[in-house]
Amino acid sequence: MAKPISLNICHLYPDLMDTYGDKGNIIDLVKRCQWRGINVKITNISVGDSLSDFSAKGGPALGWDFYFFGGGQDRQQIIVGRDLQSKANYLKKAIENGCVLLSICGGYQLLQKYFKTLDGKIIKGIGLFNAYTIGSHDRMIQNLWIDLEENLVKEIKEIYPTIDNGQLTTNLIGFENHSGKTYLDQAVQPLGKVIIGTGNNGEDQTEGAIYKNAFGCYLHGSLLPKNPHFADFLISKALERRYGKVKLEPLDDSIEWQAHQAAIDRTRP
Ligand code: GLN
Repeated sequence: MAKPISLNICHLYPDLMDTYGDKGNIIDLVKRCQWRGINVKITNISVGDSLSDFSAKGGPALGWDFYFFGGGQDRQQIIVGRDLQSKANYLKKAIENGCVLLSICGGYQLLQKYFKTLDGKIIKGIGLFNAYTIGSHDRMIQNLWIDLEENLVKEIKEIYPTIDNGQLTTNLIGFENHSGKTYLDQAVQPLGKVIIGTGNNGEDQTEGAIYKNAFGCYLHGSLLPKNPHFADFLISKALERRYGKVKLEPLDDSIEWQAHQAAIDRTRP
């Protein structure tokens, strides 16, 4: 790569929303970029921080390329859900402008229209995803294995530079632990179809949601170290907005694919 390139990551509420190794996704993104000579800058944003003020004072000149929002329990979701309302416009504009966002479980729920807890409290979301979540008596806890949505598979195959894992790049493996059941409005594209596990609600075999370059899912784990094809897809999409299509150099992902397979082998039908 001739010109030095950089990826600016905004980590939303890392102090409150970080369950089952979600932060490992950030480490993964940093490492995969650094190994390729791509600079990474991470900004932690939490309660009381204004996204727009931050960009004005010393934040990345063109705003963030990539937003990450991990999971948390109902108690944290109440605090974060309230604060997120003040950030909603900025965040939605960023997604309209082609930025990438990955959200997991509690973060995914807060980006929907609302989350109704088991005791009937409504935690208002920001409606980035046309979906809602209802707390249930079931705890959905297991390895979750999904087939990725068809168009995404096509894109990933074009982007992911390692060629000898064609078969594996069609799926994702992670670990779900939630009691909320998510229902997507009809027009919403799920991230994929459940092979083993519960996913959004255990009823319609959908898992996650996609809106433009924003992705929501129930895949903790951490997700990206075990799914290098998805990590590279997200990196590539996030760079595209400022640099156009960037050809990522291949990395030796043999250990990552072993981890991927080991997690699949542990799924329970
Ligand atoms: N409170 C949510 C649920 O149980 C989110 C949990 C999580 O982020 N792991 O549905």
